[in-house]
Amino acid sequence: MSTKKFLLEEKEIPTAWYNIVADMKNKPLPPLNPGTKQPLKPEEFYPLFAKELVDQEANQTDPWITIPDEVRELYKQWRPTPLVRAYGFEKALDTPAHIYFKNESVSPVGSHKLNSALAQAYYCKKEGLTNLTTETGAGQWGAAMAYAAKAFGLELAVYMVKISYEQKPYRRSIMQTFGAQVVASPSMSTKSGRKILTDNPNYMGSLGTAISEAIELALQTENCKYVLGSVLNHVMLHQTVIGLESEKQMEKAGEFPDVVVACFGGGSNFAGISFPFLRHNLTQGKEIRFVAAEPASCPKLTRGEFQYDFGDEAGYTPYIPMYTLGHTFAPPHIHAGGLRYHGAGSIVSQLKKDNLMEAVDIEQLDAFKAGVLFAQTESIIPAPESSHAIAAVVKEAEKAKLEGKQKTILFNLSGHGLIDMAAYDSYFAGELSNYSLSKADLAKSLDPLEKII
Ligand SMILES: *Cc1c(COP(=O)(O)O)cnc(C)c1O
Repeated sequence: MSTKKFLLEEKEIPTAWYNIVADMKNKPLPPLNPGTKQPLKPEEFYPLFAKELVDQEANQTDPWITIPDEVRELYKQWRPTPLVRAYGFEKALDTPAHIYFKNESVSPVGSHKLNSALAQAYYCKKEGLTNLTTETGAGQWGAAMAYAAKAFGLELAVYMVKISYEQKPYRRSIMQTFGAQVVASPSMSTKSGRKILTDNPNYMGSLGTAISEAIELALQTENCKYVLGSVLNHVMLHQTVIGLESEKQMEKAGEFPDVVVACFGGGSNFAGISFPFLRHNLTQGKEIRFVAAEPASCPKLTRGEFQYDFGDEAGYTPYIPMYTLGHTFAPPHIHAGGLRYHGAGSIVSQLKKDNLMEAVDIEQLDAFKAGVLFAQTESIIPAPESSHAIAAVVKEAEKAKLEGKQKTILFNLSGHGLIDMAAYDSYFAGELSNYSLSKADLAKSLDPLEKII
């Protein structure tokens, strides 16, 4: 058996994150004030986010941002993560492709989210804050943020999308174990939550709604700011440790990826594994392909519009340039809660617009089928989100087989599914279905968008 795992030493954890914006020819468009349509200055975000995070968000010049020692020290609890050659999976697919995955599921909370959570908690603590608010969909971000807040002695309130609060009680327990306060969203504790519940008492929530509630609480609480687990530039930045480690590990494996694949919610794990490799395309003329795997039920990249939109349902955030389905889009209740977001971050949106990356949409049943095959051949039960990436890898591997061509595929295993077994149960019981969204379904939330671009 050839080598399967490519490991790095602790001292090889990256010392800086990679800021791709510095190398992009077309920079992402600026966020706008929704009233005046004027670009917002970084200072205008200081009331909501920690100052250093805002400065990272706006940084278009420095390709490398030093990782603070305190954060790097905490990364050592599980980083560097393994890069694995998926021999078993390759064999089951009978493909000439070489398939590698970066295993981010080994973090203490089971997903990549901790890479940014620890960095954000660090900068908030450094600024002298005592309290944080955030939202969570399937619960992975909330769990990561709860862990990070505890590590830095901060209090955290989490608004958790109600459908997940009920379907995934164990993620709630994990957050509570780390000392966070968890509220099902929409809730009666905020103005935006009360309005939504008054209009639609049975609404099971969305990330957009939970964001509105978390922002509202942060703005009303002393010494408190808001943190977000995806979409924003600084989150993409922190996640680049994934790809930076992978670069070194692929080198150890003696290969280089032809295609890099990741699932796509707001874009952070995709950015994390892709951007350090995309750097080779931007600065050295390489032609690596990058494929974002999104759910067919929430297809912002493949069927959305590139337009300014709100990041949340109630419209509290600035206008953000993004591929969007419209901020009022209510995605079907698929079991990959982490992918149920209406928009894509502004960096990835610009990259998509400039054809520097691709996107595919994946049906829910194909994701579970691929996830089960992966579990049986590689001994890790993937998160339903990650299974979307795995299904996209299956497509790439089948293409390689048809063409009779060897190619090297690298994908990010963003998390494990051990706390998502209820979703697997529903799949085995035949209770899950695919969702096809008609043009009319999409038009409901897309048509009302102000056309600014
Ligand atoms: C949150 C999450 C995602 C989706 O979020 P991105 O910001 O697009 O990465 C994917 N996989 C897992 C395991 C997650 O927790």
